[in-house]
Amino acid sequence: MSNHDYSITETNRHVALPGYSEHGNPSQQAIDFINQDGINGEYDPPAFEALPEYAWLQANAGKFGFTLSYPRNNPMNSAFEPWHWHYQAPDA
Ligand SMILES: [Zn+2]
Repeated sequence: MSNHDYSITETNRHVALPGYSEHGNPSQQAIDFINQDGINGEYDPPAFEALPEYAWLQANAGKFGFTLSYPRNNPMNSAFEPWHWHYQAPDA
């Protein structure tokens, strides 16, 4: 919260509140990608967005059941997170 002037609203745009992270959600588990050179979107979103690996994810992640959780201008008003993708199991 100290990174966002102690605003819960602004902090929640960047970090899920306890109990709300997709990283602990069994039915919609999320993973954060970094590339093999260690470029980590969490610390440098524009650098991650420029990667060919990100272009690959956009073109192919859906084939494996993964969806970008927080695209630009998302309805949740969450910050754009090009590295964070969640899995959605196909309907049985
Ligand atoms: Zn994440």
